Amino acid sequence: MISRFLDLIYPALCELCQEPLKNGHALCSSCAAQLTRVKAPFCGNCGEPFEGEIQHHFLCPNCLHTPHDFHFARASLKSSPTSFGLVHRLKYQRHFYLARDLAPFLKETLQEDPRFEKLGKSALLIPVPLHWRRQQSRHGNQALELSRELAKLSGLSCHNALKRIRVTRTQTKLNRKQRLTNLRGAFQIKQKQRKHLHGKNIILIDDVFTTGSTAHECAQILTLEGQVSKVAVLTLIRG
Ligand SMILES: [Zn+2]
Ligand SMILES: [Zn+2]
Repeated sequence: MISRFLDLIYPALCELCQEPLKNGHALCSSCAAQLTRVKAPFCGNCGEPFEGEIQHHFLCPNCLHTPHDFHFARASLKSSPTSFGLVHRLKYQRHFYLARDLAPFLKETLQEDPRFEKLGKSALLIPVPLHWRRQQSRHGNQALELSRELAKLSGLSCHNALKRIRVTRTQTKLNRKQRLTNLRGAFQIKQKQRKHLHGKNIILIDDVFTTGSTAHECAQILTLEGQVSKVAVLTLIRG
């Protein structure tokens, strides 16, 4: 009711094409359809998409040489100026309402990849945390917003179980080895959350997957200290 009322006074515009929208949406259906989904073939471990006709399970050269502590990772959208532009607005411009229009892409991937279903209905969604200082300056955490919206759509529960205990350098200009060193000891499990994690399967949620070092570090702490069963990773974009 309230969103319909607001639509009448301030019709929302599509974040990408400026078409007027209804029902509190931020992306029109034609712009949403134009975002390119990651489709097979992709690396069975990190979800990196490849061109061509590969039918069998395969690992990309990166995963063959550097094992990850997560079970597998999948991303919903290919990286493009449009998909990155949307994440940029969600992350740095406080357009948190976009999470509502972006979470359906994550849900699509959850439904389409049978490996997620195998994790069961009791799998927990856990967002990759920001350091509290960074979260304060950005007025929120994009991964948490995506997880909350995905929880509503999927029926899985969202537990904000991790915290980042060190402010780490931005990873953008670092290679995988430097990223791993940069992140070592950066995450911890929140004391009160420990009891919820034991033996559970986890779906770690983030906006972008680049080298996998963040996901690897979180998976390691969840497995070793949280004694979880499996950690799968689901991100909006494969960077
Ligand atoms: Zn549009
Ligand atoms: Zn890979």
